[in-house]
Amino acid sequence: MPASHLPRLAPGWRHAGTLLAVVLTGCASPPSTSPQPPAITPAAAQAAGVSMDELAQQQGFARWVSAFEDSARAAGVDDATLHLAFDDARYLPRAIASDRAQPEFTRAVWDYLDLIVSPARVQRGQLKLVEVQPQLDAATAQYGVPQATIAAIWGMESDYGANFGDIPTVDALATLGFEGRREAWAKQQLMAALKILQSGDIDRAHMIGSWAGAMGQTQFIPTAFLQYAVDADGDGKRDIWGSMADVSASTANFLARSGWQSGQAWGAEVKLPEGFDAGRADDSLRQPSAQWAGEGVQTMDGSPLPELPDGAIFLPAGARGPAFLVGTNFRTLLRYNNSTSYALAVSLLAQRIGGGPGVQADWPRDLLPLTRDQLKALQQALNDRGLNAGDVDGQVGPATRQALRAWQRSRNLPADGFPTLDQLAQLQAP
Ligand code: CA
Repeated sequence: MPASHLPRLAPGWRHAGTLLAVVLTGCASPPSTSPQPPAITPAAAQAAGVSMDELAQQQGFARWVSAFEDSARAAGVDDATLHLAFDDARYLPRAIASDRAQPEFTRAVWDYLDLIVSPARVQRGQLKLVEVQPQLDAATAQYGVPQATIAAIWGMESDYGANFGDIPTVDALATLGFEGRREAWAKQQLMAALKILQSGDIDRAHMIGSWAGAMGQTQFIPTAFLQYAVDADGDGKRDIWGSMADVSASTANFLARSGWQSGQAWGAEVKLPEGFDAGRADDSLRQPSAQWAGEGVQTMDGSPLPELPDGAIFLPAGARGPAFLVGTNFRTLLRYNNSTSYALAVSLLAQRIGGGPGVQADWPRDLLPLTRDQLKALQQALNDRGLNAGDVDGQVGPATRQALRAWQRSRNLPADGFPTLDQLAQLQAP
């Protein structure tokens, strides 16, 4: 997204409050014991070159930033950093709209994988593996995370650095904080962003990323940066924007410290034995690969299952779709982005970049993903039957899945906990 597409705000708008205060003191207004908020007048809006709504928003934003600066100062952020960060801070309404879009959760998993693990992305990943081999090799040697996995995350997060966003992180986070839906989170991230600026790793102009405040080539949020970013090329700066050595090492360090097991596979696509109880495909049911093999779980090509001490069967599209045996490293990818579709996409992209196969079993492409409202209706129907699907929030969490499994068992359906429109209709039938 080129910078010129950012919404334009009037230059110097942060000082609009000051300007209005001057105007107010110039008026013959009655004496007041408490400070009055500056008036939002057509004249003031015109002077600032924005609509009245925008002016009100900008003033609210300026007040929010000002209050945040006080808490940052109290937390030890120096004035130079605060000036650098906030003198030209901008309110970015689009950050709010973008923050609400969560594609992994509303798209069918097969459509998501088609889009993300595309042949073009696999091919570019293989080229990148050669192009930045020394940096990837160094990160793998130090942190035990395979080159292809680092490359896959890089490919997922920014299309190998081609597009990591050019939104100033400070502006994005201040906007999200002011908007308020995730204020505590945004404040924590903004505070971390200030610490990064103060440390001199990057300057404000180059501290850029997504609308949601994820930064650089592998999209670290600021707290993750403070915890995991590494200066691998030794120039004294942790540069996840411009240094592939730092990008590779930081990403590998993130995974290593989040539980990645060196030398262990993420998992594998598997064939389940005839009559396998889909109710046993649950992340809480973990056992060694040998035990799964003993139950008749096999790899697609008949080679031994990857050795996992805590493998679980994962059915991302229910009992009719492909099956996977996944272990600790798959779960570690969830620390990067807490979506099983994401973890599966990274795993498959890495596997393909490394020359391995894609998904072999067929996806149930005739099934339509349920909308948020349909999922809420499903949860409500399960709750109405006393099955405790949890909050009616349109998100399939463990409670909803267990409730759906219980209902599926009562109907002699495969207890995969995977919602379909057919089942919603049955649940809603009188
Ligand atoms: Ca560096």
